[in-house]
Amino acid sequence: MVTVNCDACRKKMDNPALPFFYFGEFSICESCRDNLESQIRPAIRGKAPFTTDWYDRFVRDSITKAIQKGK
Ligand SMILES: [Zn+2]
Repeated sequence: MVTVNCDACRKKMDNPALPFFYFGEFSICESCRDNLESQIRPAIRGKAPFTTDWYDRFVRDSITKAIQKGK
């Protein structure tokens, strides 16, 4: 059986098929994903012009910070 740990909160997920969000090499559980999205969404709204490069970097930074904080 495949088990995956959330990269941010380290919670182990026995069935990672559905509730996981993958971004590049990161695996993020649903609750951490909600946290990230609540940070990312307002930032996207304030960002003009929007570029995918910026978005990519921003999401990566946000995930890295979440990993450092452990949630
Ligand atoms: Zn998590």
